Amino acid sequence: THFGFKEVPKQEKVALVRGVFDSVASQYDVMNDLMSLGIHRIWKRVAVQLANVREGDQVLDLAGGTGDLTTLFEKRVGKKGRVVLADINAAMLRTGRDRLINRGLAGNIEYAQVNAECLPFADNTFDCVCIGFGLRNVTDKDAALRSMYRVLKPGGRVIVLEFSHPTDPITEKVYDFYSFNLLPKIGAIVAKDEDSYRYLAESIRMHPKQDELKRMMEEAGLERCEYFNMTQGIVAVHRGYKF
Ligand code: SAM
Repeated sequence: THFGFKEVPKQEKVALVRGVFDSVASQYDVMNDLMSLGIHRIWKRVAVQLANVREGDQVLDLAGGTGDLTTLFEKRVGKKGRVVLADINAAMLRTGRDRLINRGLAGNIEYAQVNAECLPFADNTFDCVCIGFGLRNVTDKDAALRSMYRVLKPGGRVIVLEFSHPTDPITEKVYDFYSFNLLPKIGAIVAKDEDSYRYLAESIRMHPKQDELKRMMEEAGLERCEYFNMTQGIVAVHRGYKF
């Protein structure tokens, strides 16, 4: 299937995205390591460092999937804090919950099936709302950013960790070849699912550029917005505060 987003009605797109993650949930962790040569672990560490959370903080790990970021946040907020692992997809949440319980991390972690566009939490709840490799899949990104802003406490921060756009032409060439030629083949062999990985490459290209996303965050009410490129801009961390 070729997912031409412009022609797909909203409800259908939400269903499509859900379907993609249903079909990849089980191979998800293996593919992450394989596709990024393990570098996604470093990107996640940097994002959590930039979130700068403290012991006792309340964190929302939105589009949290199998819980990599939740695990890193949990270490920082400690037993007095709380991390909510939230995702639209029940299969991803289940996989995440099982993984975290197997790691002995359970006490201060909660699970919620939510849509980022309309978060079911009270205003001013979280010290940090983080969305890792998730905003790209959200249909109405402005609504999601506004919703994230709303549930943030004053003084809290939003962290967006997402694929972005290479900052130099050589990286761009190599990366294009990798994502349009190699990646779908790896997906076909390892996950038996070429389409989902072709969708991945396309959704990355359609995602707003660094400065555009920064502007969207400002539009949603966030202040002191800035971004940090990693791996020549293949991934970026955006950060903004609510005051
Ligand atoms: N944050 C995890 C990580 O970095 O490993 C998982 C990222 S995974 C690529 C993207 C996740 O976003 C999927 O688990 C998917 O179900 C979720 N997602 C997609 N659209 C969403 C939405 N509108 N609201 C909440 N979660 C969504």
